[in-house]
Amino acid sequence: MAKRQFKTESKRILDMMVNSIYTHKEIFLRELISNASDAIDKLNYKVLTESDSKVGKDDFRIDVKIDRDAKTVTVSDNGIGMTADEMEKNLGYIAHSGTLEFKKEIDDKENESIGQFGVGFYSAFMVADDVKVVSKAYGSEEANIWESDGVDGYTIKECQKDGFGTDIILHIKDDQGSEEYSEFLETERLRELVEKYSDYIRWPIHMTVDES
Ligand code: ADP
Ligand code: MG
Repeated sequence: MAKRQFKTESKRILDMMVNSIYTHKEIFLRELISNASDAIDKLNYKVLTESDSKVGKDDFRIDVKIDRDAKTVTVSDNGIGMTADEMEKNLGYIAHSGTLEFKKEIDDKENESIGQFGVGFYSAFMVADDVKVVSKAYGSEEANIWESDGVDGYTIKECQKDGFGTDIILHIKDDQGSEEYSEFLETERLRELVEKYSDYIRWPIHMTVDES
């Protein structure tokens, strides 16, 4: 598929994320973990009403993986997943009230309490120069990959994925002067953040590190 452009409002939020006017970049992890948890909640709810369900409550989990060679952080869930249409709809245009609140707040000049706002999926672009979303909707045979640099639009293509659910793969930005991103590839730092943001998450979160 040809590259598609983000909608105008999304573009403004993205520019804000990419240029990181916000200093608490670490909250991207809170957003991705909460989305993973929401996706599992949705599937959990759905399978409650199925008599022949292939998933049990104990199977649900969130995985956070660092690949230091590839410079990626991946947040995976085995939740409800997304079809290509849902990716287009949910990731192409984010009319996220929290994000808009956040934007308003930013416009009103910096405010320390800003971290309380849910800034959503696009916060990934605060720390990543490339984001891939690999997803297979529960009950579907087909998986798709959504990819974007947060600047130049996005693509959606069919791909391979074993189980249902979603992998969000962030390619972490290179450090730029005083702007440090490599901390998010450090095991201890990431573990600390996972712990910090797992407070209200009722599904198990596992962390793994690929290191050469
Ligand atoms: P919010 O979580 O407030 O709806 P986000 O910007 O965080 O807003 O996410 C936008 C949408 O993208 C979600 O509502 C959901 O439909 C979809 N989404 C994001 N992450 C996932 C995921 N891991 N699994 C399934 N859907 C997801
Ligand atoms: Mg969210």
